[in-house]
Amino acid sequence: MNIHEYQAKDILRKYGVAVPRGKVAFTPEEAEAAAKELGGNVFVVKAQIHAGGRGKAGGVKLAKSPEEVKEIAAKMIGSKLVTHQTGPQGKEVRRVLVEEGVDIVRELYLGIVLDRSKSQLVIMASTEGGVEIEKVAAENPDAIFKEYVAPDIGLQPFQARRIAFRLGLEGAQVKNAVKFIIGLYRAFVESDASLAEINPLVVTGSGEVLALDAKMNFDDNALYRHPDIAEMRDLHEEDPLEVEASKYHLNYIKLDGNVGCMVNGAGLAMATMDIIKLAGGMPANFLDVGGGASVETVRNGFKIILSDPNVKAILVNIFGGIVRCDRVAKGIIEAAQTVDINVPLVIRLAGTNAEEAAELLKNSGMNFEVASTLEEAARKVVSLIQ
Ligand code: ADP
Ligand code: MG
Repeated sequence: MNIHEYQAKDILRKYGVAVPRGKVAFTPEEAEAAAKELGGNVFVVKAQIHAGGRGKAGGVKLAKSPEEVKEIAAKMIGSKLVTHQTGPQGKEVRRVLVEEGVDIVRELYLGIVLDRSKSQLVIMASTEGGVEIEKVAAENPDAIFKEYVAPDIGLQPFQARRIAFRLGLEGAQVKNAVKFIIGLYRAFVESDASLAEINPLVVTGSGEVLALDAKMNFDDNALYRHPDIAEMRDLHEEDPLEVEASKYHLNYIKLDGNVGCMVNGAGLAMATMDIIKLAGGMPANFLDVGGGASVETVRNGFKIILSDPNVKAILVNIFGGIVRCDRVAKGIIEAAQTVDINVPLVIRLAGTNAEEAAELLKNSGMNFEVASTLEEAARKVVSLIQ
């Protein structure tokens, strides 16, 4: 799960990580009041969407007075912001963060992610902050340095100091950075985060080390331990079909193609998407209906797939291991009676009771194509679209 910048900053604050003072606002009036409360004479109004690249796209604006904050917020709230991370359709801005303007001396980068190949968290830092880190990684990989954290002992103070020195910090800045890095690490571990990214991490004129931007992602499987974080979920930021699918406990990810897929098991679903591409098609979604694949899940799966107007054909690929194919076939037949499947359907059932399943489907009077191999299924579904 992803959260907004202001929410990530609220979490970081609790762990003693230094962030600028600021307040979220849902209306221009609230934004003006927030600025008055903050005081001072430089403010920054920041569009809150689940995407980066806002600065370059006009989603981060400087203001000199609470009145100007109100004006900027009025333009921002309700508008669509298109950044290199939102896709061309952009994202609607529904809330803004009103923050004190910070006197920036240096812009650095600090991130924590799990390195799955090493089974360790890795802290990444760079003096090239404020720009896309992917670009730095591609063009100047030596500018990024890493500190791996042994999970049994956790982050050690010397490691935090080493990062601070390599970032070229001096004097009081080092002390501030060490406190920052240790706080960020604790916030990450204790909230079951899967990613924390501070870009930029800034050094101010007075030597403070602040998170000017903050992005945090969380492990969905651990959210039950963090009701306060789960509450931060913003459904407006998620794809409506994915929100609908999560209600039925379906693992659904919407994609840009036109071949709808219904598969049991995530690995098989990935393989199915690959083979559709190999056959010259483009998958419209990833959908894992799970091991059970009851009538109810199959019906909901069809409903979700068909709600995507791009879908021009559907490929059902079920492997009967624990679940029997004849049960799945019954599920498909019953689902087809309640959901209007108005696009060509290709079905491949393999495994336990596949023959019985084929028989049931043949006698159902339904209109669909049967395939015996995955390759054949992919070729058929692609040719039906063409
Ligand atoms: P994004 O990554 O979406 O572009 P950031 O929060 O990183 O958004 O902000 C982009 C840039 O705007 C920063 O690199 C910084 O230069 C400037 N900025 C952001 N917040 C502030 C602030 N509170 N005070 C001063 N400048 C800021
Ligand atoms: Mg940023």
